[in-house]
Amino acid sequence: MKHITIIMPLIKECSVSACGFNAMDGCHAKAITVGNGTNPGCDTFFNVPDMSAHATSVGRTGGVGACKVSGCKFNTDYECMADEIMVSLISQKANCATYAPR
Ligand code: SF4
Ligand code: SF4
Repeated sequence: MKHITIIMPLIKECSVSACGFNAMDGCHAKAITVGNGTNPGCDTFFNVPDMSAHATSVGRTGGVGACKVSGCKFNTDYECMADEIMVSLISQKANCATYAPR
């Protein structure tokens, strides 16, 4: 496998325990995509009710690969420029809790 190295904002914490990438309040996807329009939802979320089927590579913490919420003050060219973000359930959806309107 060929590798690339990219600097991305860290997902410091994610409390959406039903997501298949979640273990111990951490996101273990390589990178997530956030948002659509004005909604800062985590597009990478997928529901896996069986905790034993969640990601097991917990040594790696995910980052924000892309964000389509241009109205967030941390967004430049559809990328997140925050140092780190938090993700949590907001209105029953996995959302970026670091989102802040311009
Ligand atoms: S940040 Fe998104 S992909 Fe990662 S564990 Fe949370 S809901 Fe899942
Ligand atoms: S902080 Fe703003 S720019 Fe960064 S992922 Fe969240 S909504 Fe997108």
